[in-house]
Amino acid sequence: MTDFKRTQSLFNLPDGVIYLDGNSLGPLPVAVSERVHRMISEEWGKQLIGGWNSAGWMVQPRRIGDRIGRLIGAPGGTVVVGDTLSIKVYQALASALELNPSRRMVLTDNGNFPSDLYIAEGLLRTLDRGYTLRVVAPDDVEAAIDDTIAATMLTEVDYRTGRLHDMAALTQKAHSAGAITIWDLAHSAGAIPVDVLGAKADFAVGCTYKYLNAGPGAPAFIYVAPQHAENARPALSGWMGHQSPFAFDLDYRPGSGIERMRVGTPPVIAMAALDAALDVWDGVSMNDVRQASIALAELFIREVEARCQELKLASPRDGSKRGSQVSFRHDNGYAIMQALIARGVIGDFRAPDAIRFGFTPLYIGETEVRAAVDVIADVIANRRWDTAEYRKRALVT
Ligand SMILES: *Cc1c(COP(=O)(O)O)cnc(C)c1O
Repeated sequence: MTDFKRTQSLFNLPDGVIYLDGNSLGPLPVAVSERVHRMISEEWGKQLIGGWNSAGWMVQPRRIGDRIGRLIGAPGGTVVVGDTLSIKVYQALASALELNPSRRMVLTDNGNFPSDLYIAEGLLRTLDRGYTLRVVAPDDVEAAIDDTIAATMLTEVDYRTGRLHDMAALTQKAHSAGAITIWDLAHSAGAIPVDVLGAKADFAVGCTYKYLNAGPGAPAFIYVAPQHAENARPALSGWMGHQSPFAFDLDYRPGSGIERMRVGTPPVIAMAALDAALDVWDGVSMNDVRQASIALAELFIREVEARCQELKLASPRDGSKRGSQVSFRHDNGYAIMQALIARGVIGDFRAPDAIRFGFTPLYIGETEVRAAVDVIADVIANRRWDTAEYRKRALVT
């Protein structure tokens, strides 16, 4: 059984804050500051360029990839870390299309995160071979999979509502139609149990600054299924993915397996933060996390609905069809969220009208959920959101 008292003690949250936004930016694990400081002073400071060998910076993207792999059901040597998620989406989609060269359709849904859609639009335009991006409603994805589809590009958990796709079932349907699958695990990794190998996903990508708590701008990850590892051609063929970067050949030869999905010099300082953040997961069972997060979310939904009738549930009611977040709709959602944040209950707002709360049992318990609902009920019942200050939109919502 996972000891959530222990995991709570591993985080550094400010006093007076109930943090329900780990789905956007995970909080700081205590060990990260010390580790980053040590990396800078002992590794960079003392080992200088030798650190690439002596401190293992060069092999870090693979080594840390394996640590993430354990959280998403990926075997050793199939995950590598680097760049941002948007870039990893580009790489996965480009390689998927090359693996399925006779087809011209990419299928996605309108619950996908816009960056994934924008990246696909840009890539398909650059390829200039008559590709179409087909965007359907999430519930229509299954029916839209047919033998015209080259690749499906789906995010398992909807960033706005938390709605969960059935990764194994959609992958099976896609494969039976001859399509390659790309799964974005941005809101899955560290939130729910994931089994990329068991679900037979072809490619998977995700970020590490949400539920993996590695800090703003932390590097992303990419998984390539073992059967594609030596066939997937990397579109961003940078020197770090070359078979022999320090041979300085004039021609590109892809590195073996997942190595080829590296692009340029890895962000070593950010990797140190990620490595320390992943220590939190030692001794944590994803099934325990899932059970606890469903219980917290159910408590939250029950209490909010009982006390704040103005808020309409935007997430699936059935916990098994939802990721680790709960959203409610309200026309004044933005102002309501600002009023909550001013009172220490931190969630976020997603246009047009969703207020969103993430439940992460690693550092949130029943006490925090009940206290958060008290604040929400007060803000709603007494219209504490109804001020000019709370209506003013900030750059990041
Ligand atoms: C958070 C998120 C992103 C963000 O991409 P970055 O390149 O890390 O900014 C992309 N896709 C999905 C599905 C996300 O949830």
